[in-house]
Amino acid sequence: MTARDWPDFDARHVWHPFTQAKNAPPAVPVVRGEGACLYAADGRRHIDLISSWWVNLFGHAHPEIVRAVADQAATLEQVMFAGFTHEPAARLAKELADLLPGDLNRVFFSDDGSTSVEAALKLAIQFYVNEGRPRRRILSFEGAYHGDTFGAMSAGFSEGFFAPFREHVFAVDRLPYPATWRGDTEVEAREAAALAALDRLLDAAGDDVAAIILEPLVQGAGGMRMARPAFFRAVCEKVRAAGGLVIFDEIMTGFGRTGTLFACERIGVVPDLICLSKGLTGGFLPLAVTVARDAVYEAFLGDDFTKAFTHGHSFTANPLGCAAARASLSLLQQPETRLSLARIEQAHAAALDGLAEHPMALRPRLTGTVAAVDFRVGDSGYQSAVGDRLKAFFVSRGVVIRPLGDVVYLLPPYCISDEDLAEGWAAIAAALDMVRAEAA
Ligand SMILES: *Cc1c(COP(=O)(O)O)cnc(C)c1O
Repeated sequence: MTARDWPDFDARHVWHPFTQAKNAPPAVPVVRGEGACLYAADGRRHIDLISSWWVNLFGHAHPEIVRAVADQAATLEQVMFAGFTHEPAARLAKELADLLPGDLNRVFFSDDGSTSVEAALKLAIQFYVNEGRPRRRILSFEGAYHGDTFGAMSAGFSEGFFAPFREHVFAVDRLPYPATWRGDTEVEAREAAALAALDRLLDAAGDDVAAIILEPLVQGAGGMRMARPAFFRAVCEKVRAAGGLVIFDEIMTGFGRTGTLFACERIGVVPDLICLSKGLTGGFLPLAVTVARDAVYEAFLGDDFTKAFTHGHSFTANPLGCAAARASLSLLQQPETRLSLARIEQAHAAALDGLAEHPMALRPRLTGTVAAVDFRVGDSGYQSAVGDRLKAFFVSRGVVIRPLGDVVYLLPPYCISDEDLAEGWAAIAAALDMVRAEAA
């Protein structure tokens, strides 16, 4: 019997992310995970309907990934990655290159989504320096989120998250984002306006644009905002015509999330750089990659050190993470996974149909395994007051659903059962009813 005094140590000594500790309820102490469920210290079951912040793909403590990590830990747990290499990293790099479209062949390893974005931005800037024609500008979309480190904050700046650092981030040119949803009748006009804004920007400064960075198909932390594939295709064409690089941040959308293996497949564009993390290890370990096309890699070759990419982290390509990722990729390629993705998307679609007439549910939307609605409240946005109340409501119902302010979404692990997924949708319907009752 282990003593249950540790939640108290947490309350006294741990600093939790994205949390106002003064008024947040105590963190739920989790002791075990299995499949789509987490078990709390009091024995209660919580259905993980957002894949533990979007990282889990095949369920908690999946035995095949457990075995891969355990075997690797007993063989080689870590080795520095400059001057040395190891089998899990080499094999994983090859497997990723085989899975990714086109000549996305060169894998640069790092530790988490934010560091993969930092690497991509630095690679794009140094690419043009190495070519002898420096370009300074980075383009991104309003509402984008690319992580919490400084380069990532600059690329995905939002007042709601990063206001204290407004003066310290670097300048980025931001484009309007034509978010759309079921039954939206004005999306064409919104897309045309965004493309016109891009044209103006490229006319004025096109030859100074190093890269655009974007979340393909779905903006995640910005509120699960979805846009249409053809829009992204048009954006990439224009940026490329101006000579800029295209960076896809697929940290959330990668590994089946949007229905295809990668969102770039649905869009029909091979980006010059792609950032992957979150689902990469099936949610077991922090690991990330920035994968480059051949031409990007070749620009870093030279007779001396000056053109080399001087970036690396202590745990670059950690063997345990690579072993987990290889086990996860093998699960991803099993035929059952494709069936699960389709099953989840169909269940989402039916549930959204059921909410279509609810007066409190706005902008229902769906891309692959990601489904979202906005709650009709006076104060929209990440800091909307309804967010904290909904968080508590969902915890009390034993479902892990963590709204982004007034945006409630489901993003389940692919192993979720139909019953558990239905419980998630029932909780959302109950929350909508609660908000309606209060508004009446
Ligand atoms: C989560 C996320 C990041 C940041 O990843 P971390 O691992 O949290 O640093 C960057 N971009 C997107 C699209 C994300 O969803």
